Amino acid sequence: MGGFWSAFRPAYFVDSVYDIDPEWLRKRRLRALLVDVDNTIMPRNQSAPGTQLKDWAGSLREADVSLVVISNNWSSRIKVIAHELDLEVIAPAGKPFRAAFTKGLDMLGVPAAETAIVGDQVFTDVLGGNRAGLASVLVPPLGAVDLVHTRVLRVLERVLLRRLAGQVLRDGRWSAT
Ligand SMILES: [Mg+2]
Repeated sequence: MGGFWSAFRPAYFVDSVYDIDPEWLRKRRLRALLVDVDNTIMPRNQSAPGTQLKDWAGSLREADVSLVVISNNWSSRIKVIAHELDLEVIAPAGKPFRAAFTKGLDMLGVPAAETAIVGDQVFTDVLGGNRAGLASVLVPPLGAVDLVHTRVLRVLERVLLRRLAGQVLRDGRWSAT
């Protein structure tokens, strides 16, 4: 499966955002991140960032990695979370459409080729990021709570990831088929 389908293929699979540290980024010549919120850094039903998440954002900032939060969620909860993490935010973003990615790159001040999008969804985070020229990084969804239309897309996602990249989720971790 190539051509059209390659737009849906994540550049990288990681088991958690915490696997993304300054060293991981440096090796891949990346120095900025657009970060999804729901089921990427926090479950949908959680609204206060924990210590581990705050420390993660802080350690990236200390290493001069720029971060901007990018979420399709329209609720004020996203802005509160971004504020708690001391990060700028684009929400609602309208991923996978390009406008939000262009705006995000503008806010980061870093070229697309040196920027990654980190998210849990193929049809918003990965597709949008790939089309905008970013490195797409897919994490397993953190929580079991998804919107109804997301639950439908999850089924398609699993099929695509298996066929495009030979990756399946086992016990919440990526695993080669
Ligand atoms: Mg998400």
